[in-house]
Order: sequence, then structure tokens, then C-alpha cells
Amino acid sequence: MLADIHCHLDFPDFEKDLDSVIERAEKAGVVSIVTAGLNNVTNAKALEISKKYPAVKAALGIYPEFAAQMGEEAVKQEIEFIRKQKPFAVSEVGLDATYPDMEKQKEVFKQMVSLAKDLKIPLIVHSRGAEKEVFDVLKEMNARKVVVHCFSGKLSLAKQMEKEGYFFSIPAIVSYSSQFRELVKTISSSHLLTETDAPFLSAVKGERNEPASVKQTAAVIASIKGVSAEEMENMLFSNFQKLFMQ
Ligand SMILES: [Zn+2]
Repeated sequence: MLADIHCHLDFPDFEKDLDSVIERAEKAGVVSIVTAGLNNVTNAKALEISKKYPAVKAALGIYPEFAAQMGEEAVKQEIEFIRKQKPFAVSEVGLDATYPDMEKQKEVFKQMVSLAKDLKIPLIVHSRGAEKEVFDVLKEMNARKVVVHCFSGKLSLAKQMEKEGYFFSIPAIVSYSSQFRELVKTISSSHLLTETDAPFLSAVKGERNEPASVKQTAAVIASIKGVSAEEMENMLFSNFQKLFMQ
């Protein structure tokens, strides 16, 4: 069994054939697909999709780009909305240096961390050019159930995050990206998960990614770690259960 712990099924890319996308994932053995919202509009869409497909779970959050744009009252309202929905995880949240207003981003991110703690659900974190800042906030707030999605910071920092008990979700581009291959080598198998970030980050450049591709990702991780694909799938799925089901 497999899990895609991070994707965006509400994107227009999936509008025409979501039924067959989910079907292909299930055929590949993917039993859990976590689709993440980015703001009030996409949070609502993620919820809607999760109600339609039993395998799909909704993660709700405020993405850094929107965190920087939203007023205080709008943030407060969205957090109350998320709290009431009992989401599967808090996501997509984090810090991103390519968007303006890091201070405002931090303010909202801290609220998302405490929301996940209150709800006792995992926090799936995005960071771009702000890995150290993300780690500082997580440590300061004593966040425990953490997945670092698509980590692209320094390996020494990843190692420190692993020591804190954080998990790392590996995308399909691990098949050609030396950066992610090194990350897989660095982090022990007990702290790895699979994701797609679909429709983005396909193993085939320029193509649409979809949740079924975690099957291939698990096989690539297995080959890097020198174990059988089956053994790695079992490990990855038990990691997923440990983090999300307990
Ligand atoms: Zn994403």
C-alpha cells in the first residue's frame, strides 16, 4: 500500500479526468491521497474532493503567498473555518523567500503550527529559501508531527530536522534529481514518505504528475537504499500510518 501525502487535485489540470486519475492511483496501490488547499477557495475545493473520493483526504492551510496578502481578520476567519472541518493535516503552510513579507508569513505560519498542535494532526510544511527560518519556528513552538515537503535546503539541516523526529516526503523527481537522491541517502528510511505535489514535479519533465507516480518514487527510494521495492513500500506505509493514524 502507498500514500501520496501532498498533491493539489483541485488544480484545473485535473478538471476533466479526476475520476480516472484516482482510479489509476488506486490501481497502483495508493490508498491515501492528501490534497492540500492554499487559501479559502482551494481549501473548500479540497474538502469537496475529499468528500467525493474515499481515498482522498483534505489538508487545509494558508500558503505563504496568500499569508502575506491576507488581512488579520481574514486569516482569523480561515483558521476558524479550518478548525471546524477537522482536516487530515494542516497544509499547505510554511515560509517562502520568493514571496514578500517574511514577517507576516511568519506570523501566519506560527498560527498554523499551533492549529495543528491543537487539532493533534500533522503539519505538512513548505519551505523555499527559508529552511532555517522554518526550522527555528518549528523548534520554538515545539511542533512534533511534522512533514517537511520537498525539502531543498542543506543536508546538515535535514539531519537536524530528522533528529527532531520530522518526516521528509520525497517527490517523483527523485528519479533524476541528485539533490533528492542525496536527501534520501541522508535520511533514514524510517523518516521518509512519498508525495507528488501533482500536477507539479513529474518524473517526466513537462508532463502532468499524478498520485499514481508514488509507486515509481517508492521503487527509486528502494533502489537508493538497496532494499526491495516491496520492503520499501511497507516501510513507507508504516511511516505514514505512524504519523497520520496515531
Ligand atoms: Zn504543494
